Amino acid sequence: MKTKSLILFLIGACALLHAQTPLFHVTLLGTGVPTLDPVAYVNSGRVNAAMLVETGPNLSERLLFDCGQAVLTRLLQSGGADPVHNPNVAVDKVFITHLHSDHYSDLAAIYSYGWLFRYDLPLRIWGPGPGPNGPFGTSMIAAFLRFVYDTDVNIRALGFKDFTFPISGATPIATELREGPVYSSKGVTVSAFLVDHHPVNPSYGFRIDYGGHSVVYSGDTTYNTNLIKNSMNADLLIHEIYAWPRSDGPEVYDYHTSPADWARVMSATSPKMGVMTHIAAPSGMTDTDLANQVKTGGYSGAVKVGTDLMTLDVFASSIVAKPYAAPAVAPVSDPLSALPAEMRARLRRRIVD
Ligand SMILES: [Zn+2]
Ligand SMILES: [Zn+2]
Repeated sequence: MKTKSLILFLIGACALLHAQTPLFHVTLLGTGVPTLDPVAYVNSGRVNAAMLVETGPNLSERLLFDCGQAVLTRLLQSGGADPVHNPNVAVDKVFITHLHSDHYSDLAAIYSYGWLFRYDLPLRIWGPGPGPNGPFGTSMIAAFLRFVYDTDVNIRALGFKDFTFPISGATPIATELREGPVYSSKGVTVSAFLVDHHPVNPSYGFRIDYGGHSVVYSGDTTYNTNLIKNSMNADLLIHEIYAWPRSDGPEVYDYHTSPADWARVMSATSPKMGVMTHIAAPSGMTDTDLANQVKTGGYSGAVKVGTDLMTLDVFASSIVAKPYAAPAVAPVSDPLSALPAEMRARLRRRIVD
């Protein structure tokens, strides 16, 4: 009888554990925009574009979308309290929406510093091919990355003192995007679709599907029907917003999405939750003002104004959003001595310059 109770308890505990694992764990790493006002930029607490999506069985697929300025730091902050293992900095798959620098300026940092965490895994990069305003697409960028860091790569890969890293981890693999599925693994599919960010052509948004649920990321775009077609009934629609008046700069206004158009997109697609990111707003405008502008635009569904390091857990029938809370990291007087030998060796390799 005791054994039967124990088995039932274990089955119940496993079911509970399973029920508590979301289908998607999304971390908004960067929700801001580049600006010529450095004080406003710093005070906003919002760095440039990126989000991390963990999904698949037991959240085993870790996918980074965009990697603008300061996103490496956000990856370090988002990786939990373990002082040795930071899974987020070890991310080895990055999808770039378009070739404006605020969407990939930390690619070099993730390639080079991330190598120390990826170790033997190459960085895989999906991004736009060449366009009318730039002959270098993602394949060329990846090749340049390798050569820009040639000295660093050679020294680490050849072995200097006791620092030796496999060259495979410093050999990026690039795939230039087309519309449709671009990545598929363990039941997770990432699909790219064209958006309208003219004259930045091509520019893409991404849809991530898993277990009959989905997360959509707009990239930078003005209102357009192709995004709507690819975003229908998503659980999360994470969409840029531009709340400056058109009189401030019509060229920029015309390739982003105003609050009124943001409301139109949400009304047309009916996500379970709409999330604002890549937030461009005058410094006096609060997050509440932004949400109210969307309501005034005619959308009354669930809305979150994204903040850096906010997490969004998508379950089968609910979505839980949480603002960032820094993990409590216990002070360790001598971290090396407390670790097993194998881990000590690995940590020593990480003190690298
Ligand atoms: Zn852009
Ligand atoms: Zn942008």
